[in-house]
Formats: sequence, structure tokens, C-alpha cells
Amino acid sequence: MRIGCPKEIKNHEYRVGLTPESAKELIVQGNEVWIQTQAGSGIDATDQQYVEAGAKIVDTPDEIFAECEMIVKVKEPQEAERKKLREGQILYTYLHLAPDAPQTKDLVESGVTAIAYETVTGPRGQLPLLKPMSQVAGRMSVQAGATALEKAHGGRGVLLGGVPGVMPGKVVVIGGGVVGFNAAQMAAGLGADVTILDRDPDVLEKVGTHFEARAATRFSNQANLYDAVCGADLVIGAVLIPGAAAPKLVTREMLKDMQKGAVLVDVAIDQGGCFETSKPTTHADPTYVIDDVVHYCVANMPGAVARTSTYALNNVTLPHALRIARMGWKKAMANDPYLAEGLNVHAGEVTYEAVARELGYEY
Ligand code: NAD
Repeated sequence: MRIGCPKEIKNHEYRVGLTPESAKELIVQGNEVWIQTQAGSGIDATDQQYVEAGAKIVDTPDEIFAECEMIVKVKEPQEAERKKLREGQILYTYLHLAPDAPQTKDLVESGVTAIAYETVTGPRGQLPLLKPMSQVAGRMSVQAGATALEKAHGGRGVLLGGVPGVMPGKVVVIGGGVVGFNAAQMAAGLGADVTILDRDPDVLEKVGTHFEARAATRFSNQANLYDAVCGADLVIGAVLIPGAAAPKLVTREMLKDMQKGAVLVDVAIDQGGCFETSKPTTHADPTYVIDDVVHYCVANMPGAVARTSTYALNNVTLPHALRIARMGWKKAMANDPYLAEGLNVHAGEVTYEAVARELGYEY
């Protein structure tokens, strides 16, 4: 199969769909790989590295969209890219179609076969192609929070690990799923005093068993949340109720009872945020202060660590890409019902129920 990887054109997107190493795996399997020149520049992967892997470098996305049977990307195709998609072509990337009617319409009209990373499932109903980005965001949240705690950034001047003779900072993680688990790992690794709150007894048991004395667990009810949040130096919001907006667990009222200069990092901001005072921010201007509490609410945290994020993403997307290239998408999906969950649009129809329902397409 001829597989193409254009340079991402979405604002501030530095990741790339295929690393040189992934290109090589596809080529070794007998495929042809076309890479747009400079596609890897955001992660310092040079054209030369792709050439050494056996790929062909092309000057424009036009050649890739015109000639390749499968397009591998990171972000959903932008309007200019959607105009280039062709009937029968496979598009394998993050799509997030449900809130995006214009994109869905264009994909349907193009006749493309669109496979969305975010709806591919795993054996226990998990979302394995989203997981690495949650791992990245969870780990980054402690880094971001530690920086915001510095005086120059408006924080209360606390070093999370403390020093001999001085108490460590208190980190409260709300939600013990993928983001929360990874945040707690980083915070505990720094030597912070860590508490994880969740509503799911199985999650509490899992994190309790894993962290033992390195982190405390508490059931997430209003009283415990209030108590934990008001004593915290850093609060990390990492909750998710699948398919719903994040619940507002820290209210504006509670900010007044928090410590002056404490930091809230709202990783759940992409689902509306779990703090009442959260509003999306960017890497260029990541924080703002309300009632002396610093807020960090960047919606695309993994974008800042494009290199790590690209490699983490490729680790989970490549195995499916290899199978699709080897067998064709139909056979690959017939053999793997979890990959089949990724099919969102095919031959002019929306093939993913939740998207069809949300946007009024027949299913
Ligand atoms: P997850 O499903 O693995 O974990 C969510 C956890 O929240 C679950 O354990 C659940 O029991 C818990 N929860 C639900 N309601 C709760 C409550 N009231 N109190 C305490 N815990 C509660 O989800 P995840 O992968 O960890 O993702 C968490 C959030 O981070 C999602 O909104 C996700 O979209 C977001 N995210 C954001 C970025 C970013 O760049 N900002 C990146 C990746 C993920």
C-alpha cells in the first residue's frame, strides 16, 4: 500500500503522524511511504532521516492526497486538507467528529474511509489510542503546577518536594484514572504529600495498592473534596464522566477558603473543566489568577511536548496501521472488532452511531 503523511497544518500542532521509525516499519513490510518535506520538523525529525528509513519526500500535501491510498495524520483534517480527500482513500487520524458538523459533512461528501483514533477501543472498553495523551497530560500537570507555584508565576512559593527540615508541598489529585494516576506518580516521585480522590471504589483500591504509603486515597464527596482542596498547594483536576461535561467539583465559593497562591491545574478543561472558574488557556499564556488562586487550563497539554507525544502516539497507532496496510481496512476490521470501532465515515455515510445520532445522520 502507498501510505502518505502530510505536515500538520493546525495552529500550534508540532506532532507528526509517522516518525521515521514508524515509516521504516511500514516500508520493511513492503509498503511505500511518502512524507511531506519538513513534516517531522516539530519533533526534529529531518527529511534525511525519513529518506534513510526508505521513505520518499514530496514537496506538497497535494501529491500525498492525490496519490496515497492511506493518509496517516495526528489532528483532524483542516478545511484545506478535506478538499483534497478522495473516494476510497483511508484517513487514519484523530477526528472528534461529534461536535464538528462541518468536518463530518466534508468527510461524508468526499467518500473517504475515515478511521478515528479516539474511538478505537481495547478489550476492557478502554480507549488505547487516547491513553498515551492522558499519560502525557497527567505527567505534565505536575510539572505545570510546580512552575505555577513559583512566586514569579503568582504561586505561593512552595517547592513540591520540600527540602530536609521543611515539609513538602501538598498535591491533591481529583480523579484517579489515567491522568490522575500519572499525575500522582510524578508528584509522589518528587516527594510531595499526595492525596488522590475518586468516586469509584475499584479505582481507589487500584491506586491505593499501587502507591501504598506514597499517596493517600479519599472517597470523592463534597466534604472530603472541600477539606482536601482547602489544604492543598496544588490541585489537579483529572475527572472524566464519559460522554458528559466534567462536573464542577471546585466552586468559586471554595476559592476563598483555599490558600493564597495555591494552584489549580484543570486537565479536564477539554470536557469543560472541573473547576467552576476554569476557562481554556494556551501554552503561550497558560495561567490566570482568580481570588489569589492560580489557574492553569491548557486544553492541548501534550502539544507542548510534541516529541514525547508523537512517539507515544506512534507506539499505539502503528500496529493498526501495519495491519490495515497488510490486509486492507475491511479484513483488518473483520479480524479486530476493537479497530472496527474506529470506523467513523465510509463511502458517504456516517458509520459511528454516536456521531450519527449527534449530527442527525442516518445510521
Ligand atoms: P479516566 O476515565 O481514565 O479517569 C477519570 C476518573 O475520574 C475516573 O477514575 C473516574 O472514576 C473519576 N471521576 C469521575 N467523577 C469523579 C468525581 N466526582 N470525583 C472524583 N473522581 C471522579 O480519564 P482520563 O484519561 O484520566 O482523562 C481525564 C480528563 O483529562 C478527561 O477529561 C480527558 O479528556 C482530559 N485530558 C485532557 C488533556 C489536556 O491536554 N488538557 C489531555 C488528555 C486528557
